[in-house]
Amino acid sequence: MASEAVFATTSPATGEELEAIEATTLEAIPEIVSRARDAQEKWAEVPLEKRIKAVEKVKHRILERAEEIAKLVHLETGKPEEEALLGEVLASGDVVGYWAEVLPEELEPEEAEIDALSYPKKSGWIHREARGTLGVIMPWNFPFALPLRTIVPALMAGNAVVFKPSELTPRTGRLLASLFDGLLPDGVLGVVQGGGDAGARLCASDVDLVVFTGSPATGRKVAHACADRLVPCALELGGKDAAIVLADADLERTANGIVWGAMMNAGQNCGAVERVYVESKVAKELTEKIVAATKALRLGTDVGPLTSAAQRSVVERHVTAAKEAGGQILAGGESVDEKGAKLGYRPTVVKIDDEKNPLVAEETFGPVVPITEVADVEEAIKRANASRYGLTASIWTKDVSAGEKLARRLRAGVVTVNNHSFTGAIASMPWTGVGETGWGVTGSVHALDHLTRPRLVLLDRNRAKRETWWYPYTPTLKKLALAFAAVRGGATGIGGRVSAVLALLGLLPKRMKELRTGKPAASE
Ligand code: NAD
Repeated sequence: MASEAVFATTSPATGEELEAIEATTLEAIPEIVSRARDAQEKWAEVPLEKRIKAVEKVKHRILERAEEIAKLVHLETGKPEEEALLGEVLASGDVVGYWAEVLPEELEPEEAEIDALSYPKKSGWIHREARGTLGVIMPWNFPFALPLRTIVPALMAGNAVVFKPSELTPRTGRLLASLFDGLLPDGVLGVVQGGGDAGARLCASDVDLVVFTGSPATGRKVAHACADRLVPCALELGGKDAAIVLADADLERTANGIVWGAMMNAGQNCGAVERVYVESKVAKELTEKIVAATKALRLGTDVGPLTSAAQRSVVERHVTAAKEAGGQILAGGESVDEKGAKLGYRPTVVKIDDEKNPLVAEETFGPVVPITEVADVEEAIKRANASRYGLTASIWTKDVSAGEKLARRLRAGVVTVNNHSFTGAIASMPWTGVGETGWGVTGSVHALDHLTRPRLVLLDRNRAKRETWWYPYTPTLKKLALAFAAVRGGATGIGGRVSAVLALLGLLPKRMKELRTGKPAASE
């Protein structure tokens, strides 16, 4: 039976028909996973430097084909080519370079600490091993950069990957995978094309980890599927980012930053500004500036269309709900199908004070900025933290050190002071969240906690016939354990500690003798 994935065949950017892409049959998915699994063992045995060298070649291919990649991303998603070049192509080149540079040191075995008195002649080494075969399931909003943020370090670290792009961006997914042609042994990178059913089948296949980026609703299903198989998953889900504007902020920069943060990728960014909390003293002035900057945006040039009709109807529903609740539409507020924006929505600013309204409470994923006036910073933080999401947040103030202190109080994985969410394009910085945004981490060495697992190898050079804690259990062993407890902190005062050490020194030879003979000490 074929997968039921329905691939968009019409470009949201131009309205032109795009080449049809065949879905992977559901039956083929476990086979692709099993091929990846077979290939992974050998791939992990290839020395790290060789794996890095092989994968690193992809950087040149990405940069060489920059324009072609950006064009295809533009065609499939509708985002302006400038955004595709900056946020997808250049960022991905950096991702390859970053991991090639840091992995040799990060994956170096590390010596484990071990107390030589309690555990004589032993040493421990912690190796970071590949997790195994990974299912990597991705959304459509950054169809090139997001998968590579996981696939590149995963492969370099010795994993095999079975990658499922979104059904809305299968061509970008296919192009991405083709960049690895000839660089990897067969099967190490597999591709599954399809929709939710294909994703579900991939999660139910023999993968060792699922790295998932997408909506909380699907993330929940992925978590259940992984729980059933008792394998881990790394989830990066939705966001409802707050921008907090303090009265002392540089309002010109703040307005421009907020408008970019909200409208970039037509707002279809997990880290988009989706709520603005501004101190009342500057609310009017900031709002005017945001409205002016929003009205200056050119549809189709600065802000592309929504990627799908379904996404546009979410935006329409949220703006309608805001209007019905008394929200004031200060700019935009309607769908538009102009040239170059077949699924367009006018960049929109809404003044609203209703935390329960869908526009303020749910992820909109569209070019809309809801602005709420607050009495002071405490109210702003309280409202910002009340969201069930917690991806990124920003604080806008001229007092950077005050901003830094406030940042520590925000319930978010990334907090930027006087900027918003751009760090998602920087390979060395962790991108992660709290709450229903999920716990996945991409970017920075922290991502290795998902992609690798520690394996301890303990080497024992002790020639003694028995260890202190082995049989026979005797009263001397009990006394010795109590003496250790006293020495390690149980004894009080100098006198107590000295007599604990003396007791320990007296007991050790007795216990040694027991271990040599295998019999309890004679005195007992
Ligand atoms: P989605 O959840 O609809 O789909 C994501 C992927 O999951 C797609 O490939 C889809 O085919 C697949 N899928 C669907 N059902 C599945 C199932 N039952 N099992 C396994 N896979 C299944 O999300 P979307 O609409 O593609 O993307 C938008 C969402 O992604 C937004 O919520 C956005 O905030 C989020 N996102 C988060 C981040 C982040 O870093 N936190 C980044 C980008 C996007």
